[in-house]
Amino acid sequence: MKKRMIIFSSLISLLALLALYAISLGLISNENKNKAIEEINIYLDVATSHYENENFEDVANYMVSLDDNLRITFIDLTGKVVYDSELKYQVDNLDNHLNRPEIMNLGEAIIRKSGSTNDKMMYIARLIDDYYLRVSFDTVYFTTGNVVFAVGALLSIIIIYLIILVFLYLLSKRMLKPIEKEINDLALIADAEVVFKADTIDKLPEVIEAAKVLINNKLRQIKEENTKNETIIQAIDECLILLKNEIVTLVNDQTLKAFNVTKEAIIGKNYLYLFRNTTLLNAIKNAIDTRKNEFLNINMSSKNYSVSIIPFNSCQVLVSLKDITEKQQMEVIKKDFFANASHELKSPLTTIIGYEQMILNGIIEDKKEIKDASLKILKEANRMNQIIIDMLELSNLEFSKTYELVDIKISDVLYDVINRYQSRIDNKNINLSLDIKDTTLYCNKEQIETLFSNLIDNAIKYNKENGSIVLILDEKHFVCKDTGIGISYNDQSRVFERFYRVDKAKSKETGGTGLGLAIVKHICEKFNYKVELESVLDVGTTITIYFE
Ligand code: ADP
Repeated sequence: MKKRMIIFSSLISLLALLALYAISLGLISNENKNKAIEEINIYLDVATSHYENENFEDVANYMVSLDDNLRITFIDLTGKVVYDSELKYQVDNLDNHLNRPEIMNLGEAIIRKSGSTNDKMMYIARLIDDYYLRVSFDTVYFTTGNVVFAVGALLSIIIIYLIILVFLYLLSKRMLKPIEKEINDLALIADAEVVFKADTIDKLPEVIEAAKVLINNKLRQIKEENTKNETIIQAIDECLILLKNEIVTLVNDQTLKAFNVTKEAIIGKNYLYLFRNTTLLNAIKNAIDTRKNEFLNINMSSKNYSVSIIPFNSCQVLVSLKDITEKQQMEVIKKDFFANASHELKSPLTTIIGYEQMILNGIIEDKKEIKDASLKILKEANRMNQIIIDMLELSNLEFSKTYELVDIKISDVLYDVINRYQSRIDNKNINLSLDIKDTTLYCNKEQIETLFSNLIDNAIKYNKENGSIVLILDEKHFVCKDTGIGISYNDQSRVFERFYRVDKAKSKETGGTGLGLAIVKHICEKFNYKVELESVLDVGTTITIYFE
């Protein structure tokens, strides 16, 4: 490449020098010719001024004395040469000169070979009295200057050309060296398998291609990495905020949702625009200043967050906020649940143990009394069993047991449930009125059955003798309306809590666990149904489940 560059540049220089040489040679020879013409014309003037009465020889001698290169010729009007300074008077044998170009074109400089002397001459002729005066000299006279110039110029050109060659070599070396160093470095980065010498940059396209492939691969990798990171960041169920020198550079969707901002509004802004909580702001500032991790819990917009602030690199900080409100609430619910559950289980167990001890210690001996005690033990055991079944049901609903969903003809399920409760309805002489449409629902059979059972069970349990129950079912909803004892306004919001019973004694007596409506609520939450309760004390209760 370097060699080629030098050859190319030197050829251009050579051509330029040759063109210059040719032009200057042309100019010089033209200049010399013009000078010669001017000189001959001066000699013609001098000769003319010396001419009088055919003194040919005098004039010629005088002129030759001025310049011995001169040839002076006199020709009469018939074309006969009457005197010639070179041939003197021996001119008789000369041919007629009228057709000589310089005689035919008086005053014009003619260069031609002499017919008489065979030398290449320059001629100019003019008319003096009755004679043509012709002055000429050998062209060597002025072409010698041309030759001298030509040789001198050629030598100069050769020297200049050699200087140019050296200059080009040094220049190319100096110019290409840094480029070649860059190419070699690039080749190393691009893992190109060729090692380049400093005088070959021919491999430049190869290196650039390798570098291009490498850069493209790296860009693709970076893109993939970014997409991966973005996906991970979005998938994390926490608010993530990345700060660089106090400026927000990255946030995930959870953050945008929690702080109700748009990406455009917050990226590139100071973190003060995002957070208002003083405790959090102080902690972030502290982490930025000390470059130490900060962990804290804060309450913001009626939510509890567990916050981690992690500084990394020299100027970046990752802030993560985990919403722990639900977790904390769950912990409270769990705690209450265990306290209630143990309490609920403890009372039947105490009764069972009491009766058992009385029987074992012989306090109760009478057969009838023992039978009564056994029946009470059985009743309490059944109650415990029911509590445990309901608790398990609740726990399955809560801890995300997955339920199979299929199209179920729920009107048939409802008829089955009613059949199961028919004897209890009859025992209480309750008037049951039904408005059940053939209804199919995409749902879980067991859960819908539990839902119907719990509501109908309550409508019977808390109904009055000779009361009535209305059951309505269609694609949209299920209504269970009774004319029972009703629920006071204050209790209405609490009856869906676990173990909550308006009248504990009555509920126990009727075998209630206080979990029935809690299970109904959980089923509805699980399958996105809506529950509505309307109740008037001593008038009755209507519970409606909306399926959509
Ligand atoms: P329980 O097993 O005690 O019936 P539930 O969770 O089913 O538990 O009901 C909670 C409480 O709500 C009951 O103890 C009762 O006081 C009240 N309740 C539920 N359904 C009715 C209803 N249809 N009429 C009147 N009170 C009701």
